Amino acid sequence: PQPASAAPSLRPDDVFIAVKTTRKNHGPRLRLLLRTWISRARRQTFIFTDGDDPALQLQGGGRVINTNCSAVRTRQALCCKMSVEYDTFIESGRKWFCHVDDDNYVNPKSLLHLLSSFSPSQDVYLGRPSLDHPIEATERVQGGRTVTTVKFWFATGGAGFCLSRGLALKMSPWASLGSFLSTAEQVRLPDDCTVGYIVEGLLGARLLHSPLFHSHLENLQRLPPDTLLQQVTLSYGGPENPHNVVNVARGFSLQQDPTRFKSVHCLLYPDTDWCPRQKQG
Ligand code: UDP
Ligand code: MN
Repeated sequence: PQPASAAPSLRPDDVFIAVKTTRKNHGPRLRLLLRTWISRARRQTFIFTDGDDPALQLQGGGRVINTNCSAVRTRQALCCKMSVEYDTFIESGRKWFCHVDDDNYVNPKSLLHLLSSFSPSQDVYLGRPSLDHPIEATERVQGGRTVTTVKFWFATGGAGFCLSRGLALKMSPWASLGSFLSTAEQVRLPDDCTVGYIVEGLLGARLLHSPLFHSHLENLQRLPPDTLLQQVTLSYGGPENPHNVVNVARGFSLQQDPTRFKSVHCLLYPDTDWCPRQKQG
């Protein structure tokens, strides 16, 4: 038997990874994720979308959730999705909730390693702040009268963030069963800021700033190539900013792999059937 003080080791299935997507991204973005990192984290990954897609449902093995939230880029629609992600996590009974976007690469091993150093029963909120200072929000009550302002840090959703089950349970009065939407309305902030508001502003817990989460708001070319495989999440600039990708020398060409995710994946999992065979000599 284990010594009483030893924490039970964290298993992959203890982690719930929510991927936020939208119907029109199933082909262009999600397909790549399914072929790369999700294929190595199947039972951990839950895809939250806004439209039926039988082909995706088939691949997702019951872990594709149609939120029935509207497929528009409004605060309400995005908060609707976050609220379904939260409720599904609570119901799952898992120890850790992590949220990512559909333009994130997740390294499941790095994620597990990072989370292993914390206890899921403590208050843990991990991610990358999108600003270098806390944001200030105005809290409103019904009728719209300004009451007070609060300052808090939040983790940028586009880089991914995680919450311990202990903290997630404490958030429930402001997050569960649709209350996330009314909380977001009170501060008129996007989904990721609203999470920060609940954690820091309402519960008095703190965001743990982690340099291992990455969004395309940063200059991804500056990430040292020898640290790429230790990062927890990566991203890419997309059509508006095609040069903002991670610098991975080996693997596919930029034309074959514009996001660089396939090249990163083949460094992490060279045994993947579509990865280039290691050349002899
Ligand atoms: N998204 C969504 N509904 C929309 C537009 C975007 O759920 O109507 C999701 C999208 O799938 C992604 C995230 O929101 O996971 C961020 O979208 P995107 O990367 O296009 O924009 P960004 O905010 O990063 O510039
Ligand atoms: Mn994005």
